Amino acid sequence: MQPHILILGAGITGAALAHRLALSGVTVTVLDAGLPAGGASGGSFGWVNASFFLSEPHFHLRHAAIEAHRSLAVELGLDPQPQACIWAEATGADFDQQHDALRRLGYPLRLLEREEITRLEPHLAHPPERALLFPTERAVDLATLTDRLLAATTARGARLICGLRAEGLVTAQGRVTGIDTAHGPIAADHVILATGTGTPALLGPLGLTFPMLRRPGAILHSQALPRLVHHILATPEQEVRQDASGRLIAPAAAHHQTDSAENLADPVDLMDATLTRLRGLFPQADIRPDRLILAGRPVPGDGLPAIGAVLPGLSMAVMHSGATLAPLVAELLAREVSGQGDQALLTPFRPARFFA
Ligand SMILES: Cc1cc2nc3c(=O)[nH]c(=O)nc-3n(C[C@H](O)[C@H](O)[C@H](O)COP(=O)(O)OP(=O)(O)OC[C@H]3O[C@@H](n4cnc5c(N)ncnc54)[C@H](O)[C@@H]3O)c2cc1C
Repeated sequence: MQPHILILGAGITGAALAHRLALSGVTVTVLDAGLPAGGASGGSFGWVNASFFLSEPHFHLRHAAIEAHRSLAVELGLDPQPQACIWAEATGADFDQQHDALRRLGYPLRLLEREEITRLEPHLAHPPERALLFPTERAVDLATLTDRLLAATTARGARLICGLRAEGLVTAQGRVTGIDTAHGPIAADHVILATGTGTPALLGPLGLTFPMLRRPGAILHSQALPRLVHHILATPEQEVRQDASGRLIAPAAAHHQTDSAENLADPVDLMDATLTRLRGLFPQADIRPDRLILAGRPVPGDGLPAIGAVLPGLSMAVMHSGATLAPLVAELLAREVSGQGDQALLTPFRPARFFA
C-alpha cells in the first residue's frame, strides 16, 4: 500500500508539495485551518526573483527556483513568459554593488539608462537615471496558482480538507504518527508542516522551539486599470506590478523584501500612503483602491528557509519568499520524502540548525 502523507497548510507551499507528491502516486491529504491561500500566500506580492538574497546558497536556491516556476507554468498550461523586472531600488554605490554582485554570480541582467526605461515604461512620471533589467524574473498570483495546483492534485485522488486545524502532532515511540483535531485524530505515515506562521505552535509541544521573526506585511490592490505597468517595477519610492486583470499590486512597505518592521502602521494610513506613492509614480492615471490585504510573513529566525526532516515521520517547509521558492522546494522535498536521497540544494537550509 502507498504511504499516506498528510500535508498541513494549503498555501502555495502545501499546494506545490501536494501536487508533486500526488504526481508520484503517493496518497496525499492536505488539511488547512482556513481556506487555500488564506495565509501569507493570499497577501503576497508574488515576485519571483533571485536579485534579493541573503547568502550565496540562498541565491542559488532562488535562481534555480525561477526555472522551476517556468517549468511549472508549462506543466499547468499557464503563460510561461516572464514579465521581467526593472530594478532601481538602490542608487549610487549600493546600486553598483548590487550590479557587481549579481554579475559575478552569473545572473541574467542588463543595465538600462533613463531613455530606455522611459521606452519600456512610458507612463512612469520620473524614470530613474539607471536601472537593472532582470529578464527572467516573473510575478505570480499565488491565490490562483495555489488553486490550480490543488485542482490538479485532487484530480489525482488527493483529499483536501479545509476549515480544520491541526491541534497537535501525535507521536509514538519517537515517531510522528498523525495529528489531533477537534474532530478526532488523523493518522499518517508522514506529516509535512507547510504551516507558515502557525509552525511554532505545532512544534512547541514536542519540545522543539522554532524561532520566527514577527514580520507583518500588507499589499494594496487597486481597481483594474488599462495597461499602465509592463514589468515588475522596483523603484526607490515603491514596488508595483500590474496583474492580468489590470489591478496594480503594491506592497505597503516601499521595499518589502528588506522591511524589518515588527508592527504595521494604522492600516487606513498605510493604504492612503501607498496610494499617494502610486499616484506619484503615475500622476496621469486614475488609481483607485480596491483592498488592502494584511498577512504575516513566515520568516524563520535567521531569515532563511527551513526545509527538511524534523523527526522520524515529520518534515517541514517554512519560508519567506515562498512565492519564489515553493515550486522548487516542493520538487526537492517530495524527492526526499519519497526516499530519493538528500537534495544538495537544501543542505544549508535544514531545520535542524534551530533544534541543535
Ligand atoms: C506582504 C507580503 C509580500 C510578500 N511578497 C513576496 C514576494 O514578492 N516574493 C516572494 O517570494 N515571497 C513573498 N512573500 C512571502 C510569500 O508570500 C510566503 O513565503 C508564502 O506565501 C508562504 O506560503 P506558505 O504556503 O508556506 O504559507 P501560508 O500561505 O501562510 O500558508 C500556511 C497555511 O497553513 C495553515 N495553517 C497554519 N497552522 C495550521 C494548523 N495548525 N492546522 C491547519 N492549518 C494550519 C494556514 O491556515 C495557512 O493557510 C510575501 C509575503 C507577504 C505577507
